Amino acid sequence: MGVMHLNDDYNINVQILDFGNSVPAVVTINDDGSFSIFLNARLSYERRLEAYWHEMRHIQNQDFYGDMSVDEMEAVNEH
Ligand SMILES: [Zn+2]
Repeated sequence: MGVMHLNDDYNINVQILDFGNSVPAVVTINDDGSFSIFLNARLSYERRLEAYWHEMRHIQNQDFYGDMSVDEMEAVNEH
């Protein structure tokens, strides 16, 4: 997607998946400390970029806590 070079502090891989008409994106933290951002294939390019930065904000805010993963948070919150 041409923006990965902005994220030198993080090891992030981005994948495009068809989530149907559910969440725009989810982010997960992997066992090795890297992150995976999954973007909904149904979004336009612009909305994918928005969703990407939204998930990046979760990473930068370290929104990974307790038993609730960020993808579960996305399902219940508008944020
Ligand atoms: Zn979110």
